[in-house]
Amino acid sequence: MKIEFQKETRLQGMPVSPGIACAGICLFNENRHANLAVYQVGHDKRDFEKKRVERAFAIAGRQLEDLRRDVSARIGKAESEIFSAQAGILNDPGVRRDIEALIADNAVNAEAAVTGVMDAYEARLLQLDNEYIRDRATDIGEIKRRLLDIISDINPSLQCAGQPHCQKGRNRIIVAEELTPTLTVELDAGQTRGFVTERGGKTSHAAILARALGVPAVTGIAGIHGAIACGTELLVNGNTGEVVVWPSEATKAALLPAGMAAPARRAGSPVVPGLKVLANISLARDAPEVLAQNAEGIGLYRTEFEFFAANRLLSEDEQAEKYASVVGLMGGKKVTVRLLDVGGDKSEPFLGIAREPNPYLGLRGARFLLSRPDLLATQARALARAAARGPVHVLYPMVVDCRQFLELKKIFTEATAGLKGGRIYHGVMFEVPSACLQARELLEAADFGSVGTNDLIQYLFAVDRNNERVSADYSPDRPVFWNLIESLARAAVELKKPLSVCGELAGDPAYVKKLMQIGIGEISVSAKLIPAVREAALAPAG
Ligand code: PEP
Ligand code: MG
Repeated sequence: MKIEFQKETRLQGMPVSPGIACAGICLFNENRHANLAVYQVGHDKRDFEKKRVERAFAIAGRQLEDLRRDVSARIGKAESEIFSAQAGILNDPGVRRDIEALIADNAVNAEAAVTGVMDAYEARLLQLDNEYIRDRATDIGEIKRRLLDIISDINPSLQCAGQPHCQKGRNRIIVAEELTPTLTVELDAGQTRGFVTERGGKTSHAAILARALGVPAVTGIAGIHGAIACGTELLVNGNTGEVVVWPSEATKAALLPAGMAAPARRAGSPVVPGLKVLANISLARDAPEVLAQNAEGIGLYRTEFEFFAANRLLSEDEQAEKYASVVGLMGGKKVTVRLLDVGGDKSEPFLGIAREPNPYLGLRGARFLLSRPDLLATQARALARAAARGPVHVLYPMVVDCRQFLELKKIFTEATAGLKGGRIYHGVMFEVPSACLQARELLEAADFGSVGTNDLIQYLFAVDRNNERVSADYSPDRPVFWNLIESLARAAVELKKPLSVCGELAGDPAYVKKLMQIGIGEISVSAKLIPAVREAALAPAG
């Protein structure tokens, strides 16, 4: 029986794909195999059961190939490899051999043999002390469910399909026991605003796909699938991992980004005199939205998300293709690409960062790049190649002082010497207090600067940006913060170097006027927030 939440209830899970969404939910039909007929068969029926397995493997192989092709076209080649990997498991002769052996030795039907073998594989992976490999167990579970659906002729579906309150075909949040790659891709179809699941890791393929699709996702909410009814309104915060059941209007106003809480504003708002509004993007495929919102360029392209979406390091060619497509699409508008900014909470096994006691003060941003000049050189060459299609502003993350910036810039310029590219500008992120305290020297050495207020607040006030328990303290509303920003703006004006603000603060309409008043003439915000920000900039004073 379902417990129906009657009033606002806050649940805490693990954020796996950023963004915030609020919508009615659809439950995914998880229990479709609960009543599967599992039985012994006569010895003369064993060949028949093997044939059922053989047919299921053939159909599953075709389905995975279709999915691979679809994902390659809709999301990207790297992401489509998830389904090639699943096909690899399916085609592993050992898997079929074990299933057939179980039918032959134990005289069980196909359902029992597939369940027995795949569950054993999955259990073995789940025992390993390696999060990445444990997450691969999801692939085994998903292949098992695919095979069982085919063998038993079951269609995976939304539980509420056909009922009057069903969100099907409309904006919806999917609630499932486990986020799987197929679920993520097949249910996205432009209608899914978020995912909430009981299980599924940060490095799971499904999480990677959710990030690539830009759909917020939270996992680790134990028991939610069985405890919540279809149609319930849910707010999913993929940045913090919080899920709010039946959020009140006050909660929505507080948690939803300004542009989302308010009624939808017209896209393509006109530019504002005295304030350039650019867009932040995470993936090359976000660039069309930048144009749709009439942004004056891209002020921050967080390239590390291209790597996370692929769940591996990207080659120079792969990176060059993505960056060049963005520069080409923007047709001469400013494109600011940040070098790989990893470490802290942005660490994945493929980066090879050893476990650190305090990752936010460890191998992060600039420090990581200096420890991996090979990765910096590869990205530098890809950016230089993209610059052949138009100027590229390169942003160096988490710089702590002038010497560090110059060391990084040297690696960049040496790696790109001899490459025929276009104009490249080198800029510094101001997000560590020590960099702000030597803003003049840094701005003299650089071509431009950008203030990352998300980290600056964190390091200035020694307050974790991701910790809900100290979130009341994570606030820019302190004179020392604004004095610092004002001193940066003054230095930039005096040295005639462009300076923008690209942290989340810039997208909050409440701070737009204040930023303009202290001399900030350029901000970069999430593309969807641009109309609200421009409206706030044009609002009469008072
Ligand atoms: C920032 O710190 O403000 C910033 C823009 O960088 P990120 O949020 O990607 O750390
Ligand atoms: Mg930052």
